[in-house]
Amino acid sequence: MNIRSNCCNEKPLISLHSGEKLCKNHFTQYFENKVFKTIRQFDLVGKEENLGIALSGGKDSLTVLHILYKLAKQNPKIKINAIAIDEGIEGYRDKTLKTAQDFCDKSSIQLRIFSYKDEFGLDLDEMLNILDVKPCTICGIFRRYLLNKKSRELKLTRLVTGHNLDDECQSILMNQMKNNIEASARLGPKVGLVNDENVGNQRFPSTTENSEAIYRRFVQRIKPLYLCTEKEVTTYAFVNGLLDDFNECPNAVHSFRAQVRDILNDMEQKFPSTKYSIVNSFLQILPLLKQQFKDGIIKVCAKCSEPSANDVCNACNYIEKLKKSVVC
Ligand code: SF4
Ligand code: ZN
Repeated sequence: MNIRSNCCNEKPLISLHSGEKLCKNHFTQYFENKVFKTIRQFDLVGKEENLGIALSGGKDSLTVLHILYKLAKQNPKIKINAIAIDEGIEGYRDKTLKTAQDFCDKSSIQLRIFSYKDEFGLDLDEMLNILDVKPCTICGIFRRYLLNKKSRELKLTRLVTGHNLDDECQSILMNQMKNNIEASARLGPKVGLVNDENVGNQRFPSTTENSEAIYRRFVQRIKPLYLCTEKEVTTYAFVNGLLDDFNECPNAVHSFRAQVRDILNDMEQKFPSTKYSIVNSFLQILPLLKQQFKDGIIKVCAKCSEPSANDVCNACNYIEKLKKSVVC
């Protein structure tokens, strides 16, 4: 049987969740339009920006960098920088960092790499040999910490991440399963409870005198691929030659997220559009969630002065535990 695209006479490359089949060129156009529309719809990028792209060298971050680079070429007031974190995961991160560096070299984008070893004294692999902790828990805490700190030091106006619709769907479900609805209130295409660039117009918790200054220590994180599925991002990355190999962190398979991902993929297979439905319904209640939790207290970590929910931040707590374990 001769399968035709719905867009033209070219061979179909991908079947979208709507059932529409698109050829390579029409899919690329569809995908880029979707990302630009998401940026407009959620007001993710202003007229003048010094954007940082959190680059891992994987398909998501390379795709978002590639598309924002196109946006920046059309608008000289938008500057693009790339930041990568080297956690120190043998046999994995070295490969993806090389892909990231090659990509940035070709596009003349400056890539700054910050490592756990330099910043915290140990690689993630070494930390996991010392502490009995879930790899993604400690890794995620240190990565978010470093990305925010370095973005602020580099005076980036926003930090762009490659999170896609599947990632968001997993996060929503994981928070539900862990009864952590406040974490869900921080999700969405713009991360956090406060829109940082309008920080002066926000109401702040009256119990902390310098709340505004603390909120300013957060660099706004944005997710332009928010409405793109994992399948769409993977297809875009490969057909546009952004990467030719697929690498997955060896720790990912053991994570809670990987199990939730499998459940969602199974549901999507049986009930197409499940993921869209979860994210779309979540977007309807998100403003209420943000409103509900906007007065949460944010403090400054007593040890490192980074923003924290407690007197001492999670990163400093882990650094302390690592130091004690090494001494023992
Ligand atoms: Fe870190 Fe887990 Fe991601 Fe691996 S999968 S890079 S351990 S958060
Ligand atoms: Zn701290």
